[in-house]
Amino acid sequence: MKIIIAGAGIGGLAAALCLHEKGFEVQIFEAVNTLQPLGVGINVMPHASGVLFGVGLGDALDEMAIRTRAIEYRTRFGHLIQSDPRCVEAGFEYPQYSIHRGELQFLLLDTVRTRLGEDAVITGKAVAGFTQDDDRVHVSFADGSSCDGDLLIGADGFRSKVREQLHPGEGPAHYEGTMMWRGANVQAPFADGRTMFIAGDHDVKFVCYPISGRAARKGEALINWVAEIRHDNPRAAEEADWTREAERDFISEYFGFRMPDIDIPTLLKNTQKITQYPMIDRDPLPWWTKERVTLLGDAAHPMYPMGANGASQAILDGRALADALAERPGPQGLLAYEALRRPITTNVVLNNRKSGPERVLDIAAARVKGPEDRIEDLISAAELEEVAASYRQIAGFVKKAV
Ligand SMILES: Cc1cc2nc3c(=O)[nH]c(=O)nc-3n(C[C@H](O)[C@H](O)[C@H](O)COP(=O)(O)OP(=O)(O)OC[C@H]3O[C@@H](n4cnc5c(N)ncnc54)[C@H](O)[C@@H]3O)c2cc1C
Repeated sequence: MKIIIAGAGIGGLAAALCLHEKGFEVQIFEAVNTLQPLGVGINVMPHASGVLFGVGLGDALDEMAIRTRAIEYRTRFGHLIQSDPRCVEAGFEYPQYSIHRGELQFLLLDTVRTRLGEDAVITGKAVAGFTQDDDRVHVSFADGSSCDGDLLIGADGFRSKVREQLHPGEGPAHYEGTMMWRGANVQAPFADGRTMFIAGDHDVKFVCYPISGRAARKGEALINWVAEIRHDNPRAAEEADWTREAERDFISEYFGFRMPDIDIPTLLKNTQKITQYPMIDRDPLPWWTKERVTLLGDAAHPMYPMGANGASQAILDGRALADALAERPGPQGLLAYEALRRPITTNVVLNNRKSGPERVLDIAAARVKGPEDRIEDLISAAELEEVAASYRQIAGFVKKAV
């Protein structure tokens, strides 16, 4: 059985490794001519890093990434609202990793090429559409060429051509007005060097975490940050370009942020390259699969990055797809994969629109009015844990009993 995957992003490459492990022949077609390690930081949640450990990448992740100890939620005054542990010591079977997106993509790409062959990923081949009959799927490319396979997996990201053909006329992305600025800077580590924090509130937020094992071994930190500011300016669809360089006028919004362990305005000013990207998603789809064709990752369920779940859910899709096809090779396997993954990811997409686990920031912002206020007088630990536990349940990374 030959499986064609559109897109060599995190989702498509992780799926290829899982499918290859189950004995399938896989061919990936990637639109860009030359893949480059683009983007900045992303997180791989404990259940998704379990998938990567399963395909033998645990040591490589430990080499290049940071084993995140905890996500701290903080007020803009620097209060610790909640520390949500994410590490093995706290009862997860696998660690959460904070990592450079490009490094993870290239780890997956190199592993695919080593295990499946150099030609397993063909670049410069943008999937333009498909037709199918009882036996085969015929994939056509933007350059006029075509190829045949048994199944087609659309892992071609936010602007998926495969999705567009399955669900024409979806219209522009869903956008509520939050712009995100991103960057990374090498400097001294903050906290214990393994902490991620999210500070502020729904309108002005700051996400910060170290992403490089290599820098950590030198006593430094490659600190990834995301500044999120809500505007009433819905120009998102045309601005959604991961390489778009940004103006620096947003920095003044962070002059009032006072963290105990890092100076945010200085971090922002010292960052050489800053990009901007709108916080966009799409409404969940009523179905992903049509006979020999299905969707995976952002093509299937683009989501707000609340709870840092985009890459993780794409990796989990790949595992579920390979397992389902191993049991039922062919269209029935695709339906079984969708039956498992679509309800879960639909729930994550909708929950992320309500801020996901970051809802604790808004609970605190409504009650904490200044640096002198004490969190413990205003919010109970049980109220905070309820938010964290319910999101863990929705996103599927549940702790073992410790
Ligand atoms: C360049 C880039 C930079 C990013 N940077 C960040 C970041 O800094 N932080 C963050 O949280 N998330 C980032 N993301 C998004 C993040 O990688 C995804 O949300 C998540 O990893 C899910 O991955 P995916 O494989 O489903 O989608 P993607 O990672 O978007 O991968 C989709 C792949 O499909 C390819 N493709 C698109 N159209 C076609 C086509 N017609 N035919 C064949 N191939 C096609 C794309 O070139 C891409 O390689 C970035 C995505 C991209 C593409």
